[in-house]
Amino acid sequence: MSVAVAIELGGSHAAVGLVNAHTLIAVEDISLTPKAQLARVLPNLAICIRRLLAQNNLALNQVSGIGMGIAALVDWKSNRVVGTNGKYSDAPSIDLVGWSKENFGLPLRLENDARMGLLGEWYGGGLRNADSAIMLTFGTGIGCAALVEGKVFRSSQPQGGCLGGHIPVNLNGRTCSCGAVGCMEAEASTWALPHILQGWPCIETSTLFGNTLGGFKELFDAVAEGDLVAEAVRRHCIRVWAAGIIGLIHVYGPSKVLLGGGVMKSPEMVIPDLRAFIHRHAWTPAGPVEIQVASLGPHSALYGTIPLLEGR
Ligand SMILES: [Zn+2]
Repeated sequence: MSVAVAIELGGSHAAVGLVNAHTLIAVEDISLTPKAQLARVLPNLAICIRRLLAQNNLALNQVSGIGMGIAALVDWKSNRVVGTNGKYSDAPSIDLVGWSKENFGLPLRLENDARMGLLGEWYGGGLRNADSAIMLTFGTGIGCAALVEGKVFRSSQPQGGCLGGHIPVNLNGRTCSCGAVGCMEAEASTWALPHILQGWPCIETSTLFGNTLGGFKELFDAVAEGDLVAEAVRRHCIRVWAAGIIGLIHVYGPSKVLLGGGVMKSPEMVIPDLRAFIHRHAWTPAGPVEIQVASLGPHSALYGTIPLLEGR
């Protein structure tokens, strides 16, 4: 049995798994502190990998390699992090291929986490047999990746194809963590939600007044309870996401848009209105683009390990 180790280093959590072809054999989630440094996370990852292998009676010589997705800009040719955005800021100075060889004697391939999520859905999920697609992952921020003519899109520049969440949608918007103004992520994402709520008209009439956590689950719960401010904020976020996704549809020409991440745990609050807005306003002569929720759940990226190690 050939097994691979799969690692996802997201915005607020990490996951370590063991994958065998299309099966996620085991997975362990690790909570991270805000602004975690990669050098402090790596020893925990190593312990976790050894524990998972032991629990599943696997030796290192039965493992083909390590696939790692990280919420950062990655040079996929050299397997190095080349840009970070408030998370893992020490990552560009760390040789992850060397870390893997030294600790486990295994080859390692590194990718942006959103690209790895798209690879996972292409290999065994909602993008199986797809030729052209985009995938957005709504976590702390908004990850993005594109599939063009059956291949994950990569350019010679590390930002190519994976900064869809940083498409500016509001010229008068707030400054984003990336440095641009009015990005989709700055106007409607989990990290931006408390700022949106704070400045929303009549927020003092809402049950969300004074809410510092501001996650989308709480927002959607308030919508379900009839909170009018929460409903207005939900509609604002739908319009922001629709505007950004229409931009991506016009750039990449996908036949399918896949949406993943924690926000999609409440698809009924997002998909119908988002789909209607996009279908009304996107210019797609071949017919409406399919808008669907990712099928592999929160661990899409882990499933991307096998195709990543195969050089996809
Ligand atoms: Zn941005």
